[in-house]
Amino acid sequence: MAFKIKAFEVSKKTYMYSKPFKISLGAHFESVNVEVKLILDDGIFGLGEASPSFLISSETPDMVEIGLKELCQALIGKDVRNYRKLFDETDVIFKAIPSAKAAVQYAIIDALTASLGITPFEFFGGSRDSIYTDKTVGIDEIENMVEEARSIYAEGFRTIKIKVGSVEKGVKSVEKIAEVTGNTGYIVDANQAFKAKEAVELSRKLYEKGINVVLLEQPVHRKDYDGLKFVRQNSPYPVAADEAVFEKYDAFKLIQNGCVDYINIKLMKSGISDALAIVEMAKSAGVGLMIGCMGESSLGITQSVDFAAGTGAFSYHDLDASLMLKEENPLKGFERDKDELKILGRDKRWK
Ligand code: MN
Repeated sequence: MAFKIKAFEVSKKTYMYSKPFKISLGAHFESVNVEVKLILDDGIFGLGEASPSFLISSETPDMVEIGLKELCQALIGKDVRNYRKLFDETDVIFKAIPSAKAAVQYAIIDALTASLGITPFEFFGGSRDSIYTDKTVGIDEIENMVEEARSIYAEGFRTIKIKVGSVEKGVKSVEKIAEVTGNTGYIVDANQAFKAKEAVELSRKLYEKGINVVLLEQPVHRKDYDGLKFVRQNSPYPVAADEAVFEKYDAFKLIQNGCVDYINIKLMKSGISDALAIVEMAKSAGVGLMIGCMGESSLGITQSVDFAAGTGAFSYHDLDASLMLKEENPLKGFERDKDELKILGRDKRWK
């Protein structure tokens, strides 16, 4: 019978970054992702991609590949129309490997919607046909960061994300970048590098120079809730949590304690199930949302484009990973025009 899961195929793929991508936690040279193909009884299939980030979630590609091969067996014979039940089950099964959970949950929705002749974008709510992404400048020598930002701005991106790791160099790099990119709007991401007071110092220095920082992302250690709250209360810019939020419970605690203005949802941290819960929670609490990514190829980025455009819930989109990889994955559900990512219909996707 159609809609029943018959089999899974799992394969690991390595993508090189166009240039090494450095953040305060370390450097990435390649992204090793794991693709999942979920096949239904009638041959219709759904795809998904896991992009594990050891620096952020302590997952390795091997853990994810082996985990998927073993644990997906528990889903054989189940009906994708009962996707809520499958979400609950996969929340438990893939608890230690959230990127695998994201891939499987998306593949479930992809197979279900393929059977219905629609896309996951429509399933998630069909809110916007397109979204606008930023592009990221990694940590490097300041003149290289400035050059990179200049070319990103010239390419048409209107929000630039800048990675920082120390107060002095951070202030200088953001300031120099703003000079050559029209003070366009910057998401400054410290990836947990600062003590709370240092983050406030960086923030105030940039503010005094009139820099248009739209978000200060994860300034302090992910477990330092008090520090995050201190930064929020003392920084002139809105503060976003990234590494501090994986499951919905994390978002609940941060919101309850007044620690955040924004939450950066990544499907690789939360899967579809917790991401949906966080969207509703943030809306209820008046907390803003951005969506981010790890090292996904076009397939994995499609998952987030469908989710973000479908729910229409995000103020900022940081979905640039596939743009930073050397090779393209031909599996792709969106097309790009400068910084605009437009949804492709089912007829233009994998079939
Ligand atoms: Mn981040």
